[in-house]
Amino acid sequence: MANQDFLNEINKRRTFAIISHPDAGKTTMTEKLLLFGNAIQLAGSVKGKKGPHAKSDWMTMEQERGISVTSSVMQFPYKERTVNLLDTPGHEDFSEDTYRTLTAVDSVLMVIDGAKGVEDRTIKLMDVCRLRDTPILSFINKMDRDIRDPIEVMDEIEDVLKIAAAPINWPLGMGKEFKGVYNLYTDTIHVFQSGMGHTINDDIQIKGLDSPEFEELVGSYADDIRDEIELVRGATNEFDVDEYLAGRLTPVYFGTALGNFGVREMLDGFVEWAPKPQDRETQQRPVEATEEKFSGFVFKIQANMDPKHRDRIAFMRVCSGKYTQGMKMRHVRIGKDIKIADAVTFLAGDRSAVEEACSGDIIGLHNHGTIQIGDTFTQGEDLKYKGIPHFAPELFRRIRLKDPLKTKALQKGLQQLSEEGSTQVFFPINNNDIVVGAVGVLQFEVVAYRLKDEYKVEAIYEPVNVQTARWIEADDPALIADIRKKASDNIAIDGGGHLTYLAPTRVNLSLAQERHPDVVFRSTREH
Ligand code: GDP
Repeated sequence: MANQDFLNEINKRRTFAIISHPDAGKTTMTEKLLLFGNAIQLAGSVKGKKGPHAKSDWMTMEQERGISVTSSVMQFPYKERTVNLLDTPGHEDFSEDTYRTLTAVDSVLMVIDGAKGVEDRTIKLMDVCRLRDTPILSFINKMDRDIRDPIEVMDEIEDVLKIAAAPINWPLGMGKEFKGVYNLYTDTIHVFQSGMGHTINDDIQIKGLDSPEFEELVGSYADDIRDEIELVRGATNEFDVDEYLAGRLTPVYFGTALGNFGVREMLDGFVEWAPKPQDRETQQRPVEATEEKFSGFVFKIQANMDPKHRDRIAFMRVCSGKYTQGMKMRHVRIGKDIKIADAVTFLAGDRSAVEEACSGDIIGLHNHGTIQIGDTFTQGEDLKYKGIPHFAPELFRRIRLKDPLKTKALQKGLQQLSEEGSTQVFFPINNNDIVVGAVGVLQFEVVAYRLKDEYKVEAIYEPVNVQTARWIEADDPALIADIRKKASDNIAIDGGGHLTYLAPTRVNLSLAQERHPDVVFRSTREH
């Protein structure tokens, strides 16, 4: 690619994820976005329906392995842009995966159920976005139902999420009386047609709130609506693209994902304002997205996406330069140059071999056990991308083998699953226990299932007297030696070789911190 072409390609990229509380409509929204991207013929085929028997997202995913990869990363063209949409697990027990995926995007779309307003999960995800001031665009969903007063929902976004909200369009009625949306900036009404959820229907527009067509559309409500719009203009923030890009203001759209209405308007705003691939920090120096030399980091590892090959795919965010098929990359952590011939891409929902990818894109590398979450790859320079978090688990179990001869296989399995981020594993220094830690309880289930399925080991869990864990560090090695000696019953080594303090109670943890004031107890750790 000539230099200008290369820059154009990067500047076309828009890489984002959807955040929402379960059931707000993330899956439905994803389907409609892909419909607009022409990535699928008929909306409704992205993921299987969540039947009443589906135990968890993970189980459902497993049952549909063939397509789970396509729903992890989806690339589609829209207008003059190339959009990369990264999926995040819906279930709270896999929230770590979601947090890490949010490090790989440049912006997010927040979907809010108009009837429920701002819910728990959204609040947590918002906190994670705030760590990097990620720009947020909002979509208030389910206008085809009787939702709450839109003004109230806007206020809630501002009060609870602590971000200024600027409506771009305003709903005309709701539920059975939902007539469409009015764009506050173009003075245009987009007319809602029901029953068009699975197609891209024509955008029927009416110009101006004084037009006869408007009066005809809303009948006796015309005056009320004009008053309301005037009030809204006075009472809400004006959109400001710089404030949006700084993560301080969210543009808000109203619509119905199920009815595929308002989605096009939102997508048009998104491709116009959302940030192009951003520059990123490494431990050594900032890296610009437009630098010519390739670099990227791994934010997620997913196993067994193709049951025939039993492969693992490491998902890498390209942060600079471009990937070309067969290129050599340096795997910085292990200091080796490796030739990558068969990275995968996710164009149009299909997993296919990529020939080229540039900053902003996600590529999948086949992983044979040497890649971990957080690994950086470059074209030779020793860089390490920052900010990929690892959270101290809150749930613990001792894991025991049914067949004691399989210890090696168990250790290997747990090691690999912890590198993938599926679980965390701790080896206490004073005994031969193996303690598994998780952020959500379903993770235990997944680990037991996968140990059996992939490593042929049957393991059972037992309760263990651990309530919380902290990674410990100190500048002076003597301090570490001291705590290792004095608190040896609480010290373990984690799957990555890091020293950890396992506390049976919060009180015990506080006491340990008091006794060792110069030792740092961390509840998160960067990969
Ligand atoms: P997710 O858990 O956030 O992925 O939510 P889904 O997309 O699976 O949606 C949850 C439920 O809400 C499903 O039954 C959807 O059909 C329904 N739903 C989604 N969007 C709308 C909408 O705009 N209007 C109505 N009435 N229902 C919706």
